[in-house]
Amino acid sequence: MNYQSPILLDSEINELEIYINKFIAEEISAVELKHHLAPAGIYEQKNKMFMVRIRCAAGIISPSQLKSVALISQKFAGNEFHITTRQQLQLHDVPPENIAIVLKELKKVNLALRGGGGNTLRNVIASPDSGISESEVFDVAPYAVAISNKLVTEADSFKLPRKFKIAFANSENDNVYARCTDLGFIASEKDGQKGFKVFAAGGMGRKAQSGNILHDFIPEEEVYFVVEAIKKLFDKYGNRENRNQARIRFLWNSLGKEKFIELYNEELENVKNSNPEKLVLSDIENKANNNIPLDEKILTSEKFSLWKKRYARPQKQTGLFSVDIPFIFGNIKNDDAVTLADLISKISDNSIRFTLNQNIMLRNIPENFLGNIYEIIIKISPLSEKSRFLGNCIACTGAAVCKIGIAQPRKLLKALSDKLDEINLSLDELPDMKIYLSGCPNSCGQHHIADLGFAGRIKRINDERKFYYTVFKNAEVKNDILCLAKEIDEIPEENVVNYIIEYLKKHI
Ligand code: SF4
Repeated sequence: MNYQSPILLDSEINELEIYINKFIAEEISAVELKHHLAPAGIYEQKNKMFMVRIRCAAGIISPSQLKSVALISQKFAGNEFHITTRQQLQLHDVPPENIAIVLKELKKVNLALRGGGGNTLRNVIASPDSGISESEVFDVAPYAVAISNKLVTEADSFKLPRKFKIAFANSENDNVYARCTDLGFIASEKDGQKGFKVFAAGGMGRKAQSGNILHDFIPEEEVYFVVEAIKKLFDKYGNRENRNQARIRFLWNSLGKEKFIELYNEELENVKNSNPEKLVLSDIENKANNNIPLDEKILTSEKFSLWKKRYARPQKQTGLFSVDIPFIFGNIKNDDAVTLADLISKISDNSIRFTLNQNIMLRNIPENFLGNIYEIIIKISPLSEKSRFLGNCIACTGAAVCKIGIAQPRKLLKALSDKLDEINLSLDELPDMKIYLSGCPNSCGQHHIADLGFAGRIKRINDERKFYYTVFKNAEVKNDILCLAKEIDEIPEENVVNYIIEYLKKHI
């Protein structure tokens, strides 16, 4: 492969194994164990099993790596695994005695967890269609991968006041919300030179806030300087006393714009003067294999044509297509992942991206092999027979799994799906409608950037605790700033599905 995932060192795995064994022997508490495991992206679930988050810079994984993850999951975790809204994978239901084995097995295939959680540099994301989109400025994935590879080798990336999220968008369309994250880059060109517009100090979660323009344009060779300067600034001045006030956006607010920029410029000068090594950018080639060992399946059925219209898109590379595969709640069964990986490995090594909607986007598929892809996809992705709408909805795990969750948004999404089937509402007109649900105000379901978003809460009515959802509406970009969805209502949980249906009917 021409890209590389950050490695967790043997010594780090061995160290984690010692703490896990102490936990199993009841020599340390779950709280103490969390302190060691969280920065590596490992968390205890409600059911005493563990979740293991696998870093995938820019949402990239090779078919053989995907197959390995599925086989590791089959042997040591649950019967399915999960695609996250930050383009990573999560294994669930890993028993404590299997954690170290899983880490060692992942390391064998160049996959690692470092920075999957805790107060660290989190997965660096990039537009899933980067490198293939007809309307992009240029491919930003090499920058996301290079920044990831470089920063995971720097010790201070793992001892920050709070998490640090970076996003790279391949056009102003900003399909990774670079305008609303700790540090966001949007591809741009000036006088024929590649570069980026840079946003800082945005973010979702409690007290969500849109990002601020830090630079109208930086040349591409300055990307690392900017990342490093923001990281150093955060490291030095971030709030380490109160984790609820620790993210970069709180630093921006407490310092004020002028002071923040002044201190940032100091750090930027220091970084530039330190003559750091250049970023190593890999050339991520978008092409199909020369000799594909498959018989082309040329299909003419109406079902195939409808699927192709909904889910396949021509790439800027003539004759090649990308294909979206929607998964219910981002979950993919181990066996299905093996089947998909076996097929796609024959077509192109560079063929998989995870999307922020918890789906898979295949790429580099020659048009004559779309039939081969279709025949497998309709078996592993029931949503592929429906309009794109449902596969684009997001609902976080909620209280069923999450320890701080309040409500269970996935139940609502399932109820919505059933209701849509019952009333037979065609949603092909609304492929990109964003209906996002979070089980609490924390925004893992990204309700702040939705067209229609919901956040679970408890409301006391006559001394009774009732599940309610706060309703958010209409996130939009105005004057280059992402205006977050506004809180407009609060409704009882039992009214949410009908509320969504009425909203959809108005927009068809
Ligand atoms: S939004 Fe709340 S309930 Fe959902 S995963 Fe995040 S913390 Fe848990």
